[in-house]
Amino acid sequence: MTRLLQQTRNIGIMAHVDAGKTTVAEQILLNTGRIHRAGKVHEGDTALDFTPEESQRGITITSAATQVTWEVAGAAYRINLIDTPGHVDFTMEVERALRVLDGAVAVFDAVAGVEPQSETVWRQADAWGVPRIAFVNKMDRAGATLERTLTSMRDRFPAITPVPVQLPWGREAAFRGVLDLVGRRLLVPEGLEVVAVEVPEDHRAAVEAAREALVVAVAEHDDALMERYLEVDAAAAVTPEELHAALRRVTLSREVVPVLCGSALNNQGVQPLLDAVARYLPSPLDVGAVTGVSPDDGAEVTRPPSADAPLTALAFKVMTDPYVGQLTFVRVYSGVLEASSRVLNASRAQTEQVSRLYRMHANEREPVEQAAAGSIVAVVGLKETVTGDTLCDPSTPVTLESIVAPEPVLWCAIEAPRRQDLAKLGEALRKLTREDPSLQVRTNQETGQTVLGGVGELHLDIVASRLAREFKVVAQLGQPRVALRETLGEAVEHRERLKKMTGGPGMFAEVVLQLEPGEPDSGVVFEDMTRGGAIPRGYVAAVEQGVREAALQGPLSGYPVTDVVVRLIDGLTHEVDSSELAFSRCASVAFQEAARAASPVLLEPVMEVEAVTPSDTLGAVVSELNRRRGQIVAMQERGGAHVVQARVPLAELFGVAGDLRGVTQGRASCSMQLSGYQRVPVSLQARVLGRAS
Ligand code: GDP
Repeated sequence: MTRLLQQTRNIGIMAHVDAGKTTVAEQILLNTGRIHRAGKVHEGDTALDFTPEESQRGITITSAATQVTWEVAGAAYRINLIDTPGHVDFTMEVERALRVLDGAVAVFDAVAGVEPQSETVWRQADAWGVPRIAFVNKMDRAGATLERTLTSMRDRFPAITPVPVQLPWGREAAFRGVLDLVGRRLLVPEGLEVVAVEVPEDHRAAVEAAREALVVAVAEHDDALMERYLEVDAAAAVTPEELHAALRRVTLSREVVPVLCGSALNNQGVQPLLDAVARYLPSPLDVGAVTGVSPDDGAEVTRPPSADAPLTALAFKVMTDPYVGQLTFVRVYSGVLEASSRVLNASRAQTEQVSRLYRMHANEREPVEQAAAGSIVAVVGLKETVTGDTLCDPSTPVTLESIVAPEPVLWCAIEAPRRQDLAKLGEALRKLTREDPSLQVRTNQETGQTVLGGVGELHLDIVASRLAREFKVVAQLGQPRVALRETLGEAVEHRERLKKMTGGPGMFAEVVLQLEPGEPDSGVVFEDMTRGGAIPRGYVAAVEQGVREAALQGPLSGYPVTDVVVRLIDGLTHEVDSSELAFSRCASVAFQEAARAASPVLLEPVMEVEAVTPSDTLGAVVSELNRRRGQIVAMQERGGAHVVQARVPLAELFGVAGDLRGVTQGRASCSMQLSGYQRVPVSLQARVLGRAS
């Protein structure tokens, strides 16, 4: 069992859209015999991207997991490939994939180098402590160089040292293979085989020099290699085994990223990449134990990656499958998950029935009886489990940290024009929100209208098209509206009394609240400052509940109030007529009145926009961003193009991609991500509210 775990790799491929992630994944499946013909992305026929939206758009949305086997030095490795999207509208998908994978391959485009979204994903991977190797793809393209990508990695990721473990053999269209520095070999593909031959005479000096630089760079982060290097007094005497072992150690400690190169389209460098995954990326054993808390007493619980420990697993993806119904993807951290068993969903305190388990291989599934620690499997039968829930042994409950869904920044009305579609629409939205926790559905209490909340325009577009295709529901989406927030301009104190004594049981409560602007991103902080039991404990909880409910609807826009400290200063009870309900209602009114008096201000989402343009359309791009209340943060040259970074309110960004293409004849492109919330200038409040309601 230990050996199986040692030879398991749970990895993801992370990349900017178009860097070649799908092509790399395809080639991995092809090289490991999982598929027999590489689908071409532009023909909309690939094995990993299997929902119609993905094929149609050529982007990867769902995080499908697939297992392949790869042999290195006589040992068979089981590699679980967890698909991660490159588009920033799907950060939640990236986040949940990063939660359950142990290592990652970062794919870069050898012409473009490190692009903005790769940087975002890189930072997320840092946050989750995920060791990485890099694959510089598209070495066959005109203008491709390994050096440029290395330079941009050094610039953008100063905390981690990229070290090339290969050199390209041939440039651009003449790129024919990779020179393996560790083993001093030339690797060239012959059909699906890779043959290793001696380094050609005219490349030997370059290979030796680059190998020496590699040994020195790794030795700087690894004492054992440094000692060995000093002992033998020559980098050339360090054996391939010693160098592999040292590279593994420095990759796992996240000080070094081994950099490989290739051309996935032509199957160059893909097999060496698989070797590197097995050699350098961590096994579940390297990652070690997971910690969670006991739902009984909140005590910390540690579970080792062992089949003998009690079951602990995390659900990271829920998908509706046309044949088997709902599939829940789980990562097993400890113990054994068995088919036809009952498990506890500790996050919901509910027992769930596991009926069947499947190991997923691209688009085919293999039924299995059990899945031990370190595995990733799809479960059929779970009814209540959603993304982020912990499944465990009912006798020893534990909950792991959940996967947090980002709050929507855009809302749009959705309706079914035909009466007969109403029920179908409700059912379809229920399924979609279960699959995708970053999608929210709400009903407007006053108008009865259903609204959908998402993390970007593309996100909502995809929902609309899935409704039509998968659920055959005709639905109309309204104009997207920006999700605003409110905060307070000043501190206030307010006394509120609720008194109803006529007819039936009376209601009495009195509270004094103090409201004060809080720190950015602090949400609503509630503090009880009452002394000597002025208000009984149960009523204080009711006051907090009333405050939190009221804070969901701010006085200006009806959007939530945030970054506010609410203090309960004093209050009064009536021995007969007071109740929790009375206190909660009284507190709601008190909060609303106080917030109205506290000079409320609107906060709007602001995006970090990065536009890339040739120099002759730079002026047009800058003025387009300025026109949209954009603040230019930085301008720089990268690989012959100009990169403009700006902070622009989301309310001004509708249709920006099309407009930028228009003013630059299609030569500029842009990408964006949420940067945070900022105050709306008073003079613009009416205009912004118009785009939000
Ligand atoms: P993804 O968005 O990161 O999944 O990227 P894709 O795999 O969809 O690739 C984007 C485009 O780049 C497609 O048109 C691919 O055919 C092309 N592509 C992928 N790998 C290579 C490569 O090694 N060389 C060249 N020239 N093109 C490639």
